[in-house]
Amino acid sequence: MNAASHAETHTAYRTCPLCEATCGLAISVRDGRVLRVRGDRDDVLSGGYLCPKGVALGELHDDPDRLRRPLVRRDGRLQEASWEEAWARVNEGLAPWLAARERTGIGVYVGNPTVHNLAGSLFLRPLLKALNTRQLFTASTVDQIPKHVASGLMFGDPFALPVPDIDRTDYLLLLGANPWESNGSLWTAPDLPGRIRRLRRRGGRFVVVDPRRTRTAEHADLHLAIRPGCDAHWMLALAQVIVSEGRAAPGRLAAFTDGLDTLTARLAAFTPEAVAARCDIDAATTRRIARELVEAQRAAVYARIGSHANRHGTLAAWATELLNILTGNLDREGGVMFPLAPHDRVHDGTPGGRGFATGRWHSRVAGHPEVMGELPVACLAEEIETSGDGQIRALVTIAGNPVLSTPDGGRLDRALAGLDFMLSVDIYLNETTRHADVVLPPPSALERAHYDILFLRFAVRSVANYSPRLFAAEGPAEEDILLRLAMIAAGEGSGGDVGARAEAYLAEQVAREVSNPASPIAGAAVADILARIDGEEPCDRMLDFLVRTGPFGDGFTDDMDGLNLARLRATPHGIDLGPMRPQLPVRLRTRDGRLALADAAIDGELAAAAAELATAPATDRLLLIGRREFHSNNSWMHNLPSLIERPERCTLRMHADDAAARGLADGSRVALRSAAGVVEVPLEIHDEMRPGVVSLPHGYGHRFDDTRLARARAHAGASANDVVVADIDPLSGNAVLNGVEVTVDIA
Ligand code: SF4
Repeated sequence: MNAASHAETHTAYRTCPLCEATCGLAISVRDGRVLRVRGDRDDVLSGGYLCPKGVALGELHDDPDRLRRPLVRRDGRLQEASWEEAWARVNEGLAPWLAARERTGIGVYVGNPTVHNLAGSLFLRPLLKALNTRQLFTASTVDQIPKHVASGLMFGDPFALPVPDIDRTDYLLLLGANPWESNGSLWTAPDLPGRIRRLRRRGGRFVVVDPRRTRTAEHADLHLAIRPGCDAHWMLALAQVIVSEGRAAPGRLAAFTDGLDTLTARLAAFTPEAVAARCDIDAATTRRIARELVEAQRAAVYARIGSHANRHGTLAAWATELLNILTGNLDREGGVMFPLAPHDRVHDGTPGGRGFATGRWHSRVAGHPEVMGELPVACLAEEIETSGDGQIRALVTIAGNPVLSTPDGGRLDRALAGLDFMLSVDIYLNETTRHADVVLPPPSALERAHYDILFLRFAVRSVANYSPRLFAAEGPAEEDILLRLAMIAAGEGSGGDVGARAEAYLAEQVAREVSNPASPIAGAAVADILARIDGEEPCDRMLDFLVRTGPFGDGFTDDMDGLNLARLRATPHGIDLGPMRPQLPVRLRTRDGRLALADAAIDGELAAAAAELATAPATDRLLLIGRREFHSNNSWMHNLPSLIERPERCTLRMHADDAAARGLADGSRVALRSAAGVVEVPLEIHDEMRPGVVSLPHGYGHRFDDTRLARARAHAGASANDVVVADIDPLSGNAVLNGVEVTVDIA
């Protein structure tokens, strides 16, 4: 047990599951209630850092609106029900689609919280496999999928995502990211603001490129207020300067990189002068930054959602790594490096793999290609609305609220109302799940064990943290819910033995591992390994197996230094396994084992972006961008008093010149209009905005009476996605959330 008891109060140490930072928390508990949440000073990665969202974990657990029992629709209304009744309704509701040979009528949407919890990370796959539908949509296509595609094309592995080695770098160029509000994204580095401050204190330089002067930009040596949607063009101009001046220095990367020799010609159109008007960054500044990058001893370029949620999101992600390659900073200490997580698979040390491809199938209505097994969520509404073979008539949502978090949310809201059957797994009755026929509530974050499967794979040091559950769950464990749904989807009904199903799934993973010649358990008997795996519960058993066969594991030997679940349990502040280490070329999973810069899809995007340079950008229109805020985490923590009960946050920020030109006063109520719709919001005139750009935070719009989110409804705000049109980056399917053309008038 990781609690040090004294009297009735004890302190439990846990990893915060709410964002990539994975902060260690020290939670004081008495009589089954959370008294206080502080940062765990002894946590090996976060060292005591935390933010207000982590502090609110106790409020989340205690929230009276959090669902504790299933909801089932009776007489048109969602009403509390027993788990038995709920399972029976799920079985009955899905039956017509499960009977069909082709599962084309069922859609699935998976939201962001799924990747922040252990059960979701480990046991969602059996459910998706059993549902066997090609209509899979996730929050990735309103977020980071361009980065996966760029890595897939370059490195052959969409999960090979290099992160800045922030603690050892001398120069950080940051685009479209705001760590002072959101910490890191696909970059696990708790207290990123503190790490960046230390970079500057040791003489390093920090440059921020963002249309808005964010809190992060306030701390930069230089802030460049780029026009929204132009990050790819500008990074390509930096690359053009580097290659045209003959200063490309990829170092050891050159030996296994293809396409370097043709770069000068491919980048020729992107001179600093050619991109200056489009990006609104003068040519001299662009040349200066390019030279600084080359001359810095160790530099890192990093871009996130502001760069990726654009028409050229994948090209921006690709250009980011291109700059790191050209400056010799990819896979180098102090540059950007590939993290190594304790549960990563061990491989045989030979570069090469299956490569990466998209477009194995296409969306039915618009013909968008599949990417990583999923379709763009921007086309979910049309897939529900449009009749014909394969029309989605039943939908399963897991921990998501796409009505607020995906483009043209109003249209999706109307489409969901017309479904024949909808099942949601969620802790809240929210703007999306209000349409469900059955809502199944998983346990709270404090009622389940935690180990961050996804985000330890993006950490600036190899670390391992395990948190046992703090409180007993009132209902089934999340893995039990997912596995029972998998059994229903497989046609086995709702009454099967979930424990046996979990063990069978674990046996499949063990069988695959013993057949890997590079594994420490290669050739072992599956039954023998299963018998030696520690833990009673499915998540614990799967985790023990993964870390023991990972790069730091004990390999099921007597290695006392090797990782296993017992050691994780005994170290509540986590285990530090060292800094990132170079991994190329072994990490490459392209078919030929080489790093690929030449790619037909990227060439097409380069040509499209170059063609745009011939046209002057329209300067008479307002462009809408998003805004992340410190106390907000997408839509789903808006019901917690310490996070929501603050001054009005869902405001439209606008530069004073734009307001004056429209006769708008600070605080006035304005109509924000686009081709998708109109919302009314208060106006906030703010000097952080550049002229021509307005900003609205996402995740608001809690306006429906039939949700169970009393506090959120009292601070409803407006949904930015009601004015975001369903446009996408063609390579990744990611939604274009930034740079949306809007008008603003008095409401
Ligand atoms: S920064 Fe992220 S992980 Fe850390 S306390 Fe806040 S929400 Fe939790």
